[in-house]
Amino acid sequence: MKKDEVNIHKVVQQHLEMNDFFTGGFVVKGKADSSEPQQQEDSADVAEAARELEKNADEVRQCRKCDLGSLRTNAVPGEGKPNARILFVGEGPGADEDAQGRPFVGRAGKLLDKVIAACGLKRSDVFIANILKCRPPENRDPRPDEIISCLPYLQRQIEIINPEVIVALGAHAAKTLLNTNKSIGQLRGQFHEYYAGHGRPPIKLMPTYHTAYLLRNYSRQNRERVWDDMKKVIAELGLPIPEHTR
Ligand code: URA
Repeated sequence: MKKDEVNIHKVVQQHLEMNDFFTGGFVVKGKADSSEPQQQEDSADVAEAARELEKNADEVRQCRKCDLGSLRTNAVPGEGKPNARILFVGEGPGADEDAQGRPFVGRAGKLLDKVIAACGLKRSDVFIANILKCRPPENRDPRPDEIISCLPYLQRQIEIINPEVIVALGAHAAKTLLNTNKSIGQLRGQFHEYYAGHGRPPIKLMPTYHTAYLLRNYSRQNRERVWDDMKKVIAELGLPIPEHTR
């Protein structure tokens, strides 16, 4: 098989396993009902947060602070519930996200949807954002200068949403938000603290493998590791932990 050819058997196999592991194999015990008064939402505050997030997104869409601004088709500010309890942070948009202006809509996004579903949640229950808001060419790693230019947009999103837990997907998100050089292997599996700014309490941060990494390294062990990390997040939020049935 040529280097660029897609191994369709592998793709189908991964798809089946993904369904099996992240949805079919779990039973949600109890109901993670996001309408419960656990979040007795002050609707005026939620509306204000939504307005502030939209303002931030408009600034992102007009941003030309780095070269990526002139290379993008669409900026990808992020999307989700303005007062989400969980904020997922990825690395940066890929081709699908650049085309649609929405985060995690390609293959890695479909797997993230399954991870969220396995937690007994819906995509609309959480907020999904990235370190970089514009796609780096050829999906190369974010450059430090790009991260420095872009980070204030994410910091503002975190301030507005004020999530209880941040899930950092992959090394770039984890290292950037924790200001560390440790590897994702060293960081994942335990909570760290995200420094939310002067006078604000730190936010719990769980690093885990990026779903794109998981797709490339689709072993049972890696899936179990992500699931272990997510179980800690669910427990931290006091939500019912869906049970693995086999
Ligand atoms: N990978 C990311 O890190 N972010 C996306 O939005 C999509 C894929």
